[in-house]
Amino acid sequence: SVPIAFLGGIGAASRQGVLIKGGSYLEALSQTETFIFDKTGTLTEGIFGLKEICPRGITAAQLLEITAYAEAYSSHPIALSLRDAYEKGIDTSRIGYIQERPGLGIEAVIDGMRVYTGNHRFMEALGIQIQKVKGSGTAVHAAVGRRYVGYVLISDRVRGDVSDTIRWLRQQHMEVMMLTGDNEHVANEVAHALGIEYVYANLLPQDKVTQLEEIMNDQMETEKLAFVGDGINDAPVLARADIGIAMGGLGSDAALEAADIILMEDEPSRIINAIRISRGTVRTVR
Ligand code: ADP
Ligand code: MG
Repeated sequence: SVPIAFLGGIGAASRQGVLIKGGSYLEALSQTETFIFDKTGTLTEGIFGLKEICPRGITAAQLLEITAYAEAYSSHPIALSLRDAYEKGIDTSRIGYIQERPGLGIEAVIDGMRVYTGNHRFMEALGIQIQKVKGSGTAVHAAVGRRYVGYVLISDRVRGDVSDTIRWLRQQHMEVMMLTGDNEHVANEVAHALGIEYVYANLLPQDKVTQLEEIMNDQMETEKLAFVGDGINDAPVLARADIGIAMGGLGSDAALEAADIILMEDEPSRIINAIRISRGTVRTVR
């Protein structure tokens, strides 16, 4: 049975914009020693600015058009950003088929041609030779058929309230880590800026679960681990963590379902209030 004080704690948290799905998660939160963050859309805003268009054998405008069309139906932050950068409307009658490959990119048929857009891992898996990327950021490579047509370089910004949140967690002697599907250069840049020591990059959604399980294996029974994600591609890892924390704003329905705690605004700093409330509640109960 759940002590009444837990209900008070859940109520207090909800008034701070943190939805906790049960007293056991409130208790677990007070025992959390490890915080693992997803990068894109969680530590960062998930709004990518266009840095460079590097076409090969086609024009820059054509390359941007191909990526925007391939991303026409995706809710990934990269997709929203590329459609924004394209600035024109999408004529959906030109799109024959689209399939998203989580953690990799998109396969589509546009104007009757097969098109692939995504990261270096995706191109490698397709056997498509890519151009060396100059500059830092996230490269979205593109191919028409098996012909490589260049890449678009985009980059994201760290969220305003994240730095203080990470500092607070570390002051509380918690271990802070990052799991990301993005490349190690971007991952290390963000981690360095935020003082995050442990970084795991280039992970597919299922690799995130494997990595999380390895980290959990190294922990004692009483130590709890929380994973914080924006929800896009994160449902499996949110479900696997002792405490799955989803950002409510961008999050998919699947992620909100899988999560134990939902931040109703996309503000990681709300975690601090939730932890304070959880500790206060547990002290009252004991
Ligand atoms: P993160 O772990 O940083 O939140 P994801 O797991 O959502 O990232 O995606 C990992 C990587 O997969 C991205 O950095 C990108 O290279 C590629 N990717 C995923 N979805 C897309 C997409 N819709 N278009 C292009 N690339 C994508
Ligand atoms: Mg993400």
